[in-house]
Amino acid sequence: MCAMLLPEPKKAVFGEGTTGRFVGLNLITTKIASPSFDAKEIAEMKLWNYQDLAVRVNEADSLLIDIELSDALPAADGQIDRPELYEKQGFSLRVGSSGVEIAFAHRDGYVNVLSTLKQLLAKHDEGGYTLQEADILDWPSIERRSVSNTFAWYAGYGRIGFDMQLWGYDEWIEYLNICSDLKINQFNMCMYGYWPFQFDEYPETMLQGYKMKVWNEESRNWIEIAYTHPNISDEFLSRLFAYGHKLGIDFFAYIGLNSYNGGYPSIYKDKRMVLPKDGKFVNDFDTLCLSRPENIAYLKAAVRRVVQLGFDGIDFEESEESYWFCNCDACAETFMKNRTPAEAKHKANFWLLNTLYTEIKDENPDCVVGVRAWREPPLEKDLAYLEDCKRSIPEDIVLFWAPGLYVSDDEFPKWVDVFGKERIWARDTEANAVASTMGRLMRIFKTNVIRADEETNHQYIEKDIDMHIDSVKHGVKGINGYMFEWYGYFLNLYSHAYYGWGSTKDHETFYRYSVEAVFGAELANDILYVLRRMLTIHESQFNIFPTEFPFLRNKVKAEDIPVIQEAIKEWPELGARIRRIKEAIRGDERLKVYVKHFDKIENSHERNRVIYDLALASISYDLAVTPEDKRTFLREMDRLNELDFDLVKRMYFDVNPVDETGMPSCMYPYHELKRVIHNELDPDNRNDRQIFLGVEAFGWLWL
Ligand SMILES: [Zn+2]
Repeated sequence: MCAMLLPEPKKAVFGEGTTGRFVGLNLITTKIASPSFDAKEIAEMKLWNYQDLAVRVNEADSLLIDIELSDALPAADGQIDRPELYEKQGFSLRVGSSGVEIAFAHRDGYVNVLSTLKQLLAKHDEGGYTLQEADILDWPSIERRSVSNTFAWYAGYGRIGFDMQLWGYDEWIEYLNICSDLKINQFNMCMYGYWPFQFDEYPETMLQGYKMKVWNEESRNWIEIAYTHPNISDEFLSRLFAYGHKLGIDFFAYIGLNSYNGGYPSIYKDKRMVLPKDGKFVNDFDTLCLSRPENIAYLKAAVRRVVQLGFDGIDFEESEESYWFCNCDACAETFMKNRTPAEAKHKANFWLLNTLYTEIKDENPDCVVGVRAWREPPLEKDLAYLEDCKRSIPEDIVLFWAPGLYVSDDEFPKWVDVFGKERIWARDTEANAVASTMGRLMRIFKTNVIRADEETNHQYIEKDIDMHIDSVKHGVKGINGYMFEWYGYFLNLYSHAYYGWGSTKDHETFYRYSVEAVFGAELANDILYVLRRMLTIHESQFNIFPTEFPFLRNKVKAEDIPVIQEAIKEWPELGARIRRIKEAIRGDERLKVYVKHFDKIENSHERNRVIYDLALASISYDLAVTPEDKRTFLREMDRLNELDFDLVKRMYFDVNPVDETGMPSCMYPYHELKRVIHNELDPDNRNDRQIFLGVEAFGWLWL
């Protein structure tokens, strides 16, 4: 029988038999000449969710399974398509009836073989475990398999924090262990807004003592608290790095290039770029004027501090807007002269990138510098333009963005040719990032979205997978998968891990295979049923809702009624399945780490039922003719909006608008919907201050 391994090995033959029963591992290290790592420590770390398995070294015992380690990796033959990656990270694993032999050339191969070995473990009826017989030779197709996580995404800026941003050390370690088991080997830690670390030179830019109101269910009221990021109240980043480095995981700081950083432009509004007088832009808050020496001093000090924290690299994000640069006299003279606004922006950004590059390399010459740039329309670039971009930056800067969406198949190869395979570390695989802007509603598949084909945004898991497959085909250095939200979105992680390693099943087979590999066949049916059939309507998709939300532009209308009614009919069945899944995993030693995922999926499901009624009320409101009827449906929408938000505020921490950029913003549409409904119901007390759907949305308004 074939074991279900995630990701799948390049070569595997499985036997019918198993090893004998054992309660621990005996690592035989006599064949390793001079190990550069602690084999026992790594084995114990990798068995994080098998704490009942003891690890001994060179202590034969009938109740221990012998695992013979060798650093003589079998020679690469013609069948190994990436011999250099086989050498760096590959391994061989042979499980026979009486013992196990593993071979690897380096520590990363050892970590990877343990990730595979774990998945062959089966519980024995009399206690302990057995291993399925197998003969495996494996290596990755891509060297850097990274995920982009949120460490403080727009924290204190457009958002205080949600999901993994609220974690302390233990939660990060659990997630890192899950990622390592899937052979992910790089974390890009996104830090936008106030800094989530100690920064004595500019303490005002730290995410600490931030006043906010949290919902207190005990007394059913809002209570003001002062929030401090977990890494400031109890510093753990250095310990996380130390832990991850032992498992071959690198850490990159994912920050803005002159944007988003440290909340500095929120505090010092006069230091921002100067907007053109007749412009319509509202988001001037993420760019500093580069002609002010104090701004440059701040940006330099901030990146030096980031390097000092011990990051292995920095990934700078250039803002997607291309339409302007600072209009102050000095910037106009330095950057704008005889250039289009897009050219001026790049000119300014290249200058800044080169300046910060020098600071970084001065602090740590080994710190890798990456950039997400040239993402503005037109998305298809001509060759001369790309060549010019290449000449404008230091030659060892790597790319954390390359095209994949909304462009022809010829576009990516062009970038590979110009910059070279080694410099391509990531593409446009942001399905999870887009999902994380949905105010905690579920959006993984196209099937979750109403009239998905008519939408301008097409970022779903399917597109991420297409790009990963294509990256493997071109043999580039890295893939990057967005994981801006973890709970409820484990399938996104599986897709990054599975296709990044080079596994090859088609999309549909993969969904089933990966979920079954983790949760077993029976639960896989329920999980996929729920995730695929959950119809999500975002509360911005009502005609009355005025704020632009580029990720979902369709407004519900009369023709959608049958689909909504079908979802209402289906709703109890989805709920029953969610409760069944929760019950099953709660009591399972290995699967209980997924309970929180289904808590949140259930919360989203409960909200969906309210939102379906809200959608029907919205359509009725649109169709109503008399003022009396209009008011009736407005009051109904108001009531349902409160019910929806009741479910939100009981579950989530950061649910209110933040406005210190100057733009009130909140990812939950509740506040804006309430504002416009109340304006209609009570025109004498109008409130005309629009609440935007998160500063994230601004960069996408061109969609
Ligand atoms: Zn300026």
